[in-house]
Amino acid sequence: MSDLILETRDLSKAFKGFVAVKDVNLRVARGSIHALIGPNGAGKTTCFNLLTKFLTPTSGRIFFNGTDITREAPAQVARRGIIRSFQISAIFPHLTALENVRVGLQRREGGTFRFWRSVSLLDRLNPRAMELLDEVGLAGFAATPAVQLPYGRKRALEIATTLAMEPELMLLDEPTQGMGHEDVDRVTQLIRKVGAGRTILMVEHNMKVVSSIASTITVLARGMVLAEGPYEAVSRNPEVMQAYMGT
Ligand code: ADP
Repeated sequence: MSDLILETRDLSKAFKGFVAVKDVNLRVARGSIHALIGPNGAGKTTCFNLLTKFLTPTSGRIFFNGTDITREAPAQVARRGIIRSFQISAIFPHLTALENVRVGLQRREGGTFRFWRSVSLLDRLNPRAMELLDEVGLAGFAATPAVQLPYGRKRALEIATTLAMEPELMLLDEPTQGMGHEDVDRVTQLIRKVGAGRTILMVEHNMKVVSSIASTITVLARGMVLAEGPYEAVSRNPEVMQAYMGT
């Protein structure tokens, strides 16, 4: 199998004539942590929406494991293993951390989520759910309702529910957004840990986080790829400095 898990070819998206993403060629290596960065309005969210098929491209192609998935529906793409981290709003606040992970496991099994099933009949999923909570450092919070978890722990729970769906490619949306230093450090460590043996594509603004964990960085500006490579190279790129770093 190729060492590219995801490849886009000349991917573009226009909204009523406004081109938000233009001819983007993104190449994500299997097993890497790849960061997508760029100023506000650069097209990062639109790219994520195109990859999960939440949006349909205006032109261009998306390949996953060498298969053209450009015309596939969101559910098909998710079944292939492209899983975007849930926003916190998508965590069920009154279910416990364990129950939330179980919902993810149940989704992976293809079952439609049913509250009554998830809370009463799915005890067989508990051991795997506990393992995942342990992996993200939440073993001690299994019985805590999600709503009571501190912010940083909620993001860890979001990662656990994403892992429950056995992503082959995990898309993380600004995983450290709105966090204090301590939580940023904890989530950075967590991403490094869960990234071992998995592939992660993340949108992230915090350059300290990006420089410490991403092996490849793609810089977008005005919908186009400005630079791609390891942090050391892209951070010295004069165009990047001008467009993104503001120097
Ligand atoms: P980023 O995530 O990098 O901040 P976005 O992908 O959200 O950038 O947006 C890229 C550009 O596309 C912005 O100028 C934004 O206003 C525009 N855009 C995004 N979604 C839509 C939409 N549904 N309709 C019209 N314009 C949009």
